[in-house]
Amino acid sequence: MSENTTCACTSTKAAVEYLNSVEYKEKNFARKALSINPAKACQPLGALLCALGIEGCLPFVHGSQGCAAYFRNTLNRHFREPIPTVSDSMTEDSAVFGGQNNLIEGLKNAYQVYKPSMMAVFTTCMAEVIGDDLNAFINNARAAESIPKDFPIAFAQTPSFVGSHITGFDNMLKALLQSLADTRHGKWTNGRLYLVPGFDTYPGNLREYKKLVRAMGIPLTVLPDAEEAMDAPHTGEYNMYPKGTTMAELADALNASGFIFTQKFSTSGTYKFVKNVQKINTEMVTMPIGIKNTDNFLMALSEMTGKPIPAELEKERGRAVDSATDAHQYIHGKRFAMFGDPDLLLGLTGFLLEMGGIPVHIVCTNGTEAFRKELQKVLDGSPFGKEATVHTGRDLWHLRSLLMTEPVDMLLGDSHGKFDAKDANIPLVRIGFPIVDRVNMHRSPIVGYEGAINLVTMIANTFMEQTDRTCPDRFFELLR
Ligand code: SF4
Repeated sequence: MSENTTCACTSTKAAVEYLNSVEYKEKNFARKALSINPAKACQPLGALLCALGIEGCLPFVHGSQGCAAYFRNTLNRHFREPIPTVSDSMTEDSAVFGGQNNLIEGLKNAYQVYKPSMMAVFTTCMAEVIGDDLNAFINNARAAESIPKDFPIAFAQTPSFVGSHITGFDNMLKALLQSLADTRHGKWTNGRLYLVPGFDTYPGNLREYKKLVRAMGIPLTVLPDAEEAMDAPHTGEYNMYPKGTTMAELADALNASGFIFTQKFSTSGTYKFVKNVQKINTEMVTMPIGIKNTDNFLMALSEMTGKPIPAELEKERGRAVDSATDAHQYIHGKRFAMFGDPDLLLGLTGFLLEMGGIPVHIVCTNGTEAFRKELQKVLDGSPFGKEATVHTGRDLWHLRSLLMTEPVDMLLGDSHGKFDAKDANIPLVRIGFPIVDRVNMHRSPIVGYEGAINLVTMIANTFMEQTDRTCPDRFFELLR
């Protein structure tokens, strides 16, 4: 080999070193027009999850078939459940002439073949770019008798080039209330509390909310309740329309005695509609991840309804505190990076801080300035929050640069983080959506006291497992 020739492995090594350098990180953070592996999905995916929570509802995608396949696949791989959704399969001709014919024909077929009790229609990029008017098209479909005149349909415009899946969830939920909820009967209420979980992909969380609220003796409706759609029992028979929020409960929603929202950023429009327009007794709490956030959730419930917190929940809290105390030495002082949706990160940060963990890099692709400020307030409230930087609008390639130049001990986030974690040689604890390379993670709650115990278990055991796997023989011990 001549002196001037560089072998492939040397140049690859140099390239990797450069990619891992501070110099490259600065270049990476200077990029403006390119997004690499953003930690978010598009609006219609969120609208679809919302629609799945209404019993008897068929989600209907006004747009291209490939988009519908992407939503179905992503949700299906996370939940390992079939995701019933239809699309009116817009193609090139609809892009030129508009998608009205597709919608009229699609509604007719969906109504006749799948016999839903209602449909939730939402759009993809193509329909939005050409400016399809869903309201007019659906009225024309009724006039053309493709569906009965009084067939219930809610529709939401969900343009994917703004916002993310959490915006789509919010738009669909607000549309469901605006289209299908009856007008509020003055001061009369139905005595029920409506709990809005937001874009929550843990059926275990919905079960946990129901358990906590019912333990307090509060009549409850979860809106939307996709628990069974996300986690149907195996009975040998496929039920296309599992249990969820009933249409009667949706119709009566604006007569609720109160609403409690457990995610601020995935339901902000619906929250404003319920609180400011409908003037319903409404509370918004941080996602109850960790002990303090769960305390705040239960206190808010108690203040809203006048119901005391029962002894069984106090005991459950005691068990969560005990589990945190037993495991604090494995988490205290450890440095963490995290990524995911704004509400998840707000809750998780609170949990980590109360465990003495040190959040260092927090990446939120779909986070706004309002989110950044709110999270900063949480971080400023703890001595363990001083080292953290909140990166909104950044993606997982930015996160990689952060991990390579300012190392941490663990990454928290969904399955997409496994590549960054591998490069940085740190463990990834899978929290969030989607989790497509592990099983059953969505079935255990991460909210409530039970959720706090689960998080402590996952994080502490992962550290101990890593120690066992990597320590020198002389430190390989029975006790950890
Ligand atoms: S971003 Fe647009 S084109 Fe891509 S899946 Fe979402 S709706 Fe379809």
